[in-house]
Amino acid sequence: MANLVLKAGKERSFIRRHPWVYATAIAKLQGNATAGDTVEVVSSNGDWLARAAYSPNSQLRARVWTFNQEERIDRDFFQQRLTAAFARRNYLKSRGNALRMVFGEADGLPGLVIDQYADWLVVQLMSAGVEFWKATIFDVLAQVTGCKNIYERSDAAVRGREGLEVVSGSVAASVELVVDAESPNTGKARSSGSGKAKSKKAKPVSDSKQVKITEDGIHYAIDIEQGHKTGFYVDQRDNRRLVRQLCERIVLQNQATTNCTVLNCFSYTGGFSLAALAGGASTVTSVDSSAEALRQAQYNAGLNGFNDERFICAEANVFDHLKLCQADPEARFDIVILDPPKFAPSANHVERAARAYKDLNMRGLKLLKPNGYLLTFSCSGAINVDLFQKIVAGAVIDAKVDCQLEQRLAAGGDHPMAMVHPEGEYLKGLLLRRS
Ligand code: SAH
Repeated sequence: MANLVLKAGKERSFIRRHPWVYATAIAKLQGNATAGDTVEVVSSNGDWLARAAYSPNSQLRARVWTFNQEERIDRDFFQQRLTAAFARRNYLKSRGNALRMVFGEADGLPGLVIDQYADWLVVQLMSAGVEFWKATIFDVLAQVTGCKNIYERSDAAVRGREGLEVVSGSVAASVELVVDAESPNTGKARSSGSGKAKSKKAKPVSDSKQVKITEDGIHYAIDIEQGHKTGFYVDQRDNRRLVRQLCERIVLQNQATTNCTVLNCFSYTGGFSLAALAGGASTVTSVDSSAEALRQAQYNAGLNGFNDERFICAEANVFDHLKLCQADPEARFDIVILDPPKFAPSANHVERAARAYKDLNMRGLKLLKPNGYLLTFSCSGAINVDLFQKIVAGAVIDAKVDCQLEQRLAAGGDHPMAMVHPEGEYLKGLLLRRS
């Protein structure tokens, strides 16, 4: 096995058990290694530090498999790590059948993401190391889970940085993907500039690939082939439940009117919208610029019997839509949800992203009814929790509203973060209440 020899002083991060070896920390490679090969990481004076997967094309030149010199990297290794990752999530199964079963570095499997949707496993291989062990991983997965349907979605941009091809497709399928008679991928989604139109049932047909899941009793159809990430924002499970609980609370408080209005911005396929309706919301407006996402949201609403006047779609740019609402004094909400895409893809984008988050939050805050709630999120890894809170505080000041921070929000327990690897934390959110 080749040795990856570090420059003097660069062993410090390994003593802290950080799992990444940057190209800049390496003095030399002793011996031969190609992409994905296991190498021994050693300090400048020859001390053994870790066993890692080599990635010659990446700035992240190696990712650590183990800091234990006794541990070999073989089938048993993957079997143990995968079994442990799966067992750790067992307690979440009572919530539903959409779970992140493996989350990269946090599960000791750098670059590997596995989401389970009902009887499908959707796998993302995003490092040279997991790519090298792909056949073993799939084999172990089938054995450990008994799940015969594995879909590879290794189309994430990070693969390019690892020098890997984009791959997407079914690896092993015991059955055809569920092709639903009323799949949402055809027919036009309705749109309404002000978000006041009624919804209709999604049109039947389609060749789209849908897997149906249930979370906290709510049904969603997920497009594992074309959907974002692996098809669904599994990470928002607890925050969807929170929205549902807030609606229940508001409905109870407003008994005279049973009125609870929700504005779900960047709604995608309606995750938060359906949770709000399950909590008794009187209307939910889902705003998204993607007609396709709204069609899927509408279809999902239908799966739960919510596809009526309570479910409103607005195909629009959120920033424009918020301006429109601002001009309409009737358009005020008990709950506003802001869950935008990543505004800061890297540290270089933080300043511009911060301005966009501030503007977005200021506009959202202005639409809250008295005592209304804002749930605001950022999934930009480059913006940490403290900075996000500062940005939102700036928005509160600019909006000239009084607000309390009721709760800090994050991804669910199936998206843990290794304490030695803070880079793994990305989703952060705040629950504010307008006083
Ligand atoms: N909240 C969603 C996930 C949001 S993903 C959930 O919980 O499932 C981000 C969404 O924002 C995508 O659906 C994308 O189409 C939409 N989007 C991105 N930029 C937008 C913009 N400026 N206006 C409206 N929608 C936008």
